[in-house]
Parts: sequence; C-alpha cells; structure tokens
Amino acid sequence: MTSTRTRAADQDAASTPGDEAVPHAGLVVVGTGFTGLAMAHALQQAGIDDWLVLEKSAQVGGVWRDNTYPGIACDIPSHLYSLSFAPNPDWPRTFSDGAQIWDYEQRVARDLRLAERTWLGEELLEARWEAGPARWRLRTTTRELTANVVVDGGGVLAEPRLPAIPGIEDFAGTIFHSARWNHDEPLAGRRVAVIGTGASAIQIVPAIQPQVARLTVFQRTPGWVIPRNDRDVTEAERRLLRRVPALMKLQRGWQYVYRDGVLWKLLAHRGSRRVFERLSRAYLRSQIADPELRAKLTPDFEIGCKRILITNRWYPALAQPNVHVETSPITEVRPHAVVTADGAEHEVDAIVCATGFHVTDPPAGAVFHGRDGRSLAEVWGDSPRAYRGVTTAGFPNLFRIGSIGTGTGHMSHVMQIESAVRYVMDALATMRARGLGAVEVRGDAQEQYARRMHEMARDTVWATGGCSSWYLDAGGEPSAVWPSTAWHYRKWTRRFDPEAYVLTPAPAP
Ligand code: NAP
Repeated sequence: MTSTRTRAADQDAASTPGDEAVPHAGLVVVGTGFTGLAMAHALQQAGIDDWLVLEKSAQVGGVWRDNTYPGIACDIPSHLYSLSFAPNPDWPRTFSDGAQIWDYEQRVARDLRLAERTWLGEELLEARWEAGPARWRLRTTTRELTANVVVDGGGVLAEPRLPAIPGIEDFAGTIFHSARWNHDEPLAGRRVAVIGTGASAIQIVPAIQPQVARLTVFQRTPGWVIPRNDRDVTEAERRLLRRVPALMKLQRGWQYVYRDGVLWKLLAHRGSRRVFERLSRAYLRSQIADPELRAKLTPDFEIGCKRILITNRWYPALAQPNVHVETSPITEVRPHAVVTADGAEHEVDAIVCATGFHVTDPPAGAVFHGRDGRSLAEVWGDSPRAYRGVTTAGFPNLFRIGSIGTGTGHMSHVMQIESAVRYVMDALATMRARGLGAVEVRGDAQEQYARRMHEMARDTVWATGGCSSWYLDAGGEPSAVWPSTAWHYRKWTRRFDPEAYVLTPAPAP
C-alpha cells in the first residue's frame, strides 16, 4: 500500500482527547473522482488545511479509472465534461475516450498536489456518528480515523450490478462486469455473450465484434439511438485554444446553453420527443436493412425515459454476420451456455455483464451509520432521500455529492457535482462563522423537499415514459434524477440554508 498520511492527520493524531492513537481530520473526502478533485480545489481556494482524502484504489480517479472496457468514451462533449477550474485545451476529440478522461483526472490531481493528502488503497468500510464529540469514526481497509465532516464522492454509477440469473455462479468460462474488464482474458476468437444493451454495451459490442468468433447480444429492452457527431480536434485548433483560453469558455458556454436551454426543453415536451423518435427510427432504418432485426431494435417506450444512446457504431456492429441479437429472456446460465426462455442453449466461452450499477442502493448505504445507529440503507428503505441532493436527516455532517437526486439525462454530471460542492463549501463557511459542531438536515425539510422533487418529476418522461431504468428506485420513484435543468440545480445549491437544519454548537474543546 502506498498511502500517504496528511499533515492534518499527522498533526492531530495525538490531539483528540482519549483517542490518542487515532488520527483525526477536520474533513475527510471519500474518493478521487470528479467530486474528490472539485472538493480538493474548493478547500484549497477557501484556505482550509485540515482535510484528507480516502481512495480505495491504488491510483486516483473515479469511474474513468475503473471502466476500461474496449470502446469506452464519453457521450457528453469534452469541454462541457471538464471541471470549470481546469479547462483542457488538449482534448484530442470532441467526445473523449475514457482513457483520455482518466489522464485528465490524473493531471488535475497532480496540479492540486492531491497525493500529499490522499490515503491510497484505503476503502471506507464503516463510518459511525459519535454525537458527544460531534464527529465521524471511520474504519478503512487497514486503519481507523475520526473526522468532523465527511464528504462522500463515491460516485453514482460506480458499484457494478451483476444479474441474478440462476446458475450464473457455475459458469465455467470467463465472466466479468463491464466496469471491471478482465484484460487478462482476451476475447479474440471466442464465443462471447454480452448481457445488456445500455450505454456501456453499445460501446463494447462494436469494439469487440471484429475480434470475436461469435457475439450473442442478450437484449431485454432496445434503446433509442441517435448518431454521435464526433471528430478529431486538429493540432491547429488545440494551439488556438491554448493561445486564446476564452475560446474554451465560449465552447463550453455554447454547449451548456444548447443542452440546458434547448435540449432539456425539447426532451421535456412530448411533441418534440415524437420528432426525436421519428429521427431515431429513420436512423435505424438507414442502418439496419433486415426487417426482423429492425423490429427487434425498435423501442416501445418514450424517448428519454432511459438514457438516449448516442453512437454511430452500434447498429452497424449488430448487422455483422458474426453477431446475433437474442431477445428471448435469459432463464439460466449453464457451465458452457446461456439458456433462454424459448429453450435455446447458446454456447459461449465468455460472458460480459453490461448490466448497470447499484444507483439508488449504493454501497454507501451500508457504510454510514447515523445518529441512531441505523445505516443509510435502513433509513432509506426503498426510497432514498437526499436534501438538495446532498444531505440526509439522521446523518449530521455527512455530505454526499453527485448521487441521489442529481442525475440528468441531458447534461454533464461534472456540472452537477460542482454545484453540490459549492453548497458544501457554504455549509462549511456557515459552520465556521457560527461556531457549529454539527449540521443535520431536519426531517420535515427533507420530506418537503422530496415531495417537491416527486411533484417535479411526476410528469417527466422518466416517470411516465413506460420504461424501467436506473433513474428509478425500488419503489418506482425517479429518486436518482434531478428533474430540471442544471442551471436550476445550481440555483438551488448556491447557498447553504441553515434554516432547514438542526444546528448544534461545537463541543467545548
Ligand atoms: P444500464 O444503462 O443500467 O443498462 C444495463 C443493461 O443491462 C440494460 O440494457 C438492462 O436491460 C440490462 N440488464 C440488466 N440486468 C439484466 C438481466 N438480468 N438480463 C438481461 N439484461 C439485463 O447500464 P450501463 O449501460 O452500464 O449504463 C449506465 C449508465 O452509465 C448510463 O445510463 C450512463 O449514464 C452511464 N454511462 C455513460 C457513458 C457515457 O458515454 N457518458 C457510457 C457508459 C455508461 P433493461 O433495459 O431491460 O433493464
């Protein structure tokens, strides 16, 4: 393990009364993805020094470090999918590859000197609130520490969801999830099954199709597809952006206005959704000549209900002779085959599960234990709650960023993260200014907020579009989404609102 103790933790190691051996930090950030980077920058800007970062992996980065599947790329334009304080003139494509985004994250981490404050290889396994000293007691992979405040940036599409299919654990070939690609098991020349047809699968299938002997794509629900307007950025363009950085702001501003001001409105309106659907169907017709395959690939829910799939390569790959799209539901996995409801046994050597993530039931649910000892998962039940997408009643001084109630279908998630970071920073400033030891959102404020969210979401396509998706929780509510524009979320998170919180003075030193 290459963990580095931070100054904050070292200085305070012996200063917590009765707990001399346990390091203490004023604030702990969990994760070094976009949230970790944005928090680190904001803390530095605010001149706050007493913080450290926990990172479960041996390297910094978030989902773009963990997802290394062939073909991985971002379907949001690069200048928008960047941190506002770290514009990048060197994006090589208009929509960058996963590896390029991870490189960017690592460069930003270096610029922020994040390594000096990061405990690498330390996963947060348990966090318990201690009311007396008003702090969190944290247990990581190999250590223990305490912290007054925890900012969880563990991510929203981070924890792989494996399908619960009878017999899957007895499969004798290679099997892995798309987000944990096994590069030691090359798929070239093998018979491969891909389960799922979401945003990950539509990038994986075209990338592996030319190499594999046979590819069976198990599709439960076909998605709406629109082509991606992607291209290389020329060296001359990059030089220009380096010389005139304002041009990057201009590009970012334009993409933001288009997505938040135009695209959001179009997707929110049933009539214009019909137009998108017609365009998508026309695109399908232009790409797939076989009427039987075309019928299989035609969605039966409203566009926007699931995330729209933005790709030029999916349909051409499915039309190749070594690819079969199977729509009969999977009933069983045997040691060498996937069995479907029509009785067919599809012999395969490898299975790729592109089956999505635990979004509204994240691992953090079992990690954090609040004021009454119950875990977040126990408190949430089927319907997770996060006031302003950040705080939960019963969990003082815990700020979770970019997770419940913040997902969008049209915008860069990085912008949502930066909005929430501003809210947290204002909360910290309020705590300092008022001498507070703890802030905890009031249950009634949280419920009122949740009701408002559900009202706003009720008529959106996520709730009415006739599909199931990761935007919905186990109770069928669109808990994962922010049901409005990114501008609206920024407005709602501009200022910490102490009136919605129970404020507890700092304990006497
Ligand atoms: P996903 O959208 O949740 O899709 C999972 C797929 O697996 C769906 O097609 C689902 O079918 C299928 N599935 C799940 N369990 C199954 C089972 N037991 N049997 C058969 N099929 C099963 O997951 P994802 O594709 O990994 O994408 C998740 C999100 O990550 C995206 O929506 C997007 O926000 C993000 N992402 C972004 C990019 C990007 O370019 N920015 C790229 C990749 C991913 P049903 O549809 O029937 O449930």
